[in-house]
Amino acid sequence: MHTLTIGLTGGIGSGKSAVSDWFARQGIDVIDADVIAHAITAKGSAVLDELVQSFGEWVVIQGGEQVGEYNRSAMRKHILDNPDAIHTLNAITHPHIQARIKNELSSSTSAYRILSVPLLVEGMDKPTSLATLCDRILVVDVPQDLQLQRALARDAAKLSTQDDPAAYIHAIIQKQASRQARLVIADDVVDNGGTLDELYAQLDVLHRRYLQMVEHP
Ligand code: ADP
Repeated sequence: MHTLTIGLTGGIGSGKSAVSDWFARQGIDVIDADVIAHAITAKGSAVLDELVQSFGEWVVIQGGEQVGEYNRSAMRKHILDNPDAIHTLNAITHPHIQARIKNELSSSTSAYRILSVPLLVEGMDKPTSLATLCDRILVVDVPQDLQLQRALARDAAKLSTQDDPAAYIHAIIQKQASRQARLVIADDVVDNGGTLDELYAQLDVLHRRYLQMVEHP
C-alpha cells in the first residue's frame, strides 16, 4: 500500500500542536520528534548512560525528587558555554531519535501520518535530516507578532522567572529558521494568522487532499 508521511513544521508558538491535535482528532497518527527526543533520554535509559559516559555525571540530576533524570538545563548551559558540545550531543542522540521515529512510522496504521519536527528546516542540509523520511512538508505560517504573543501567553507560567519574557521568546524566534526559509521548503502551507476555526477549515481541505493522494497515488 502507498503510504504518505507529512512533515509538519513551524516556529515556536506558530500552532504546530493545534495542527497536530486536529489531525489526531481525525484519526491520523501523529509522531512528534520532540516527544521522542525527550523519551529517549528518560531516567535509566541507555542514551542517558551514553551521555554520562561522554559528558560526566552532571548530565544526570544528583538529588531531590528528580534524581536520576536528565539535567536538560545543565546541558543547555553547557552547550552555551561550549558550542562544539552540540555535535557530541547530536552524535549520541540523533541515531536513537531516527531509529525510534522510523519504528513508529512503520507501525503506523492510519491512512497517512504526520511527523512533527519543530526544527526541520534547521537540520535540512544534513543527510540524516528527518525531512528524508517525509513525502511532503507542511508549514504552519504565522506573522511574527502573533507568534510572539501566543508563545508568551501559552508559556506565561514557565516564563515567570525570566526578567523579560518577551525578549526571551524573541531570542528563540531569532535563533530559529526565518519565516521565509520555512516557506521555501514547504509543499503545503497553512496560515494561522486567524482564528482556530479558520485554521481548521484549511486543515480540512488538506486532509481531503492527503486522503486522495493515498487512494490515487
Ligand atoms: P507550537 O506547537 O507551534 O509551539 P501551539 O500549537 O502550542 O504552537 O500554539 C501556541 C499557542 O497559541 C497555544 O496556546 C495555542 O492554543 C494558541 N493558538 C494556536 N493557534 C491559535 C489561533 N489560531 N488562535 C488563537 N490561539 C491559537
